[in-house]
Amino acid sequence: MSEKTKEMKEQLFYRKKSAYEVEGEAGIAKAYEFARGYADFIGKAKTEREAVTEGINILKAHGFSEYQLGDKVKAGDKLYYNNRGKCLLAFVIGSEPIENGIRISAAHVDSPRIDMKQHTVYENTGFGYLKTHYYGGIRKYQWATIPLALHGVVMKKNGESVYVTIGEDEGDPVFCITDLLPHLSKDQSSRPLDAAFTGEGLNILIASRPYATEDDPYKTNEPDERVKLTVLKYFNDKYGIVEDDFISAELCVVPAGKPRDIGLDRAMIGAYGHDDRVCAYPILMAVAELEAPEKTAMCIFADKEETGSEGNTGMQSRILADVISELSRALGADEHVVRAHSLCLSADVAAGYDPNYPEVFEINNSAICGSGVVLTKFTGSRGKGGTNDASAETVYKLRHIFDEAGVVWQTAELGKVDQGGGGTVAMYIANHNIDTIDLGVPVISMHAPFEIISKMDLYEAYRAHTAFNK
Ligand code: MN
Ligand code: MN
Repeated sequence: MSEKTKEMKEQLFYRKKSAYEVEGEAGIAKAYEFARGYADFIGKAKTEREAVTEGINILKAHGFSEYQLGDKVKAGDKLYYNNRGKCLLAFVIGSEPIENGIRISAAHVDSPRIDMKQHTVYENTGFGYLKTHYYGGIRKYQWATIPLALHGVVMKKNGESVYVTIGEDEGDPVFCITDLLPHLSKDQSSRPLDAAFTGEGLNILIASRPYATEDDPYKTNEPDERVKLTVLKYFNDKYGIVEDDFISAELCVVPAGKPRDIGLDRAMIGAYGHDDRVCAYPILMAVAELEAPEKTAMCIFADKEETGSEGNTGMQSRILADVISELSRALGADEHVVRAHSLCLSADVAAGYDPNYPEVFEINNSAICGSGVVLTKFTGSRGKGGTNDASAETVYKLRHIFDEAGVVWQTAELGKVDQGGGGTVAMYIANHNIDTIDLGVPVISMHAPFEIISKMDLYEAYRAHTAFNK
């Protein structure tokens, strides 16, 4: 090949960049530093409620105060709106007229998990269990034989709210779902993977010692629910809960333990719930660190994405439109104009290309870990069903912002056409007449109890959102 042809190729071809190459040693060190803050956040925030609580802590530390619908606002104000403890909107009022539009970034803070049923505690043959109903798209077999923790809120009969966390502290017990031994798994092993475990079979092992006292010692084979009593006695001693109270509770079973660095180079993080807190954290930090911006910037922690974004804490609710409406009114602006001129990054994760499973990816349109944050024009499935499919003009706006700021970014689809698919909150925000596009961090083993991301991609997401808000 002649030098001239090489030059032409250089000039005309797209080449995916490596974040390592672009950032160099100094940038890599910053990425690792940013990842420490993220790991700390995600280790504490395993449910949407915890993500909102931790998010508010970070916002308060950056000078934000609580906003109520109807409050007066002015340029420079740093505010957050807490929607029922499960959804959070944080915003900084810009010096420009708000009718120039708001820069919005939205991530979801719920993750696939296993929820307790309302009638949950039961005993069978000497074991105490919790009955469950899984939440979101889990591959059930992945949740057996791993340590599990219990997180959530219980509203007691007297109106008191108690927060339960068991399984996270060093000395805490953990729980688990059992599996068959290979010696007896002939029938189970011959079933398809998604039929090996049933939803109703995801029972959490929580106790095994019968309750007994000196006056009333345990007698072998007495079917008197003494293990169930052990369980209820524990909850009563520690939290003042009786069985009725589980009816007004939201208790979630999540993988126990802290995030860990993966690899000898510590370049990746393994943790529960990267989807989508690996996007929630950078959008929060990019807004939290804003000082007197020109454009009004807003970030959203949404609930219920994993079950369809329904309900009053999900992105299909009116809350975003209501907050924009109230801010517009307070600033003497027309909310319709504000929305028409706003731009939104739906910050949700991408499927990272996994060389162990090349058959489900189309390599040219795959998200490569370490090649930066992923701009996704459309999501959905079966011929782009269920997506907002951002316009070329919208793609251009982001492409321009990121290139100007030197952000390392790539573009990708979820996987091969017709292999599967999935949606995000993008279309629900676009429905408010807001230009919206997806931007996220590639994740390996998405929705598994232990997901993997690259620290470089996380850092590029933060840089992308910082540039977006400028
Ligand atoms: Mn997601
Ligand atoms: Mn998901």
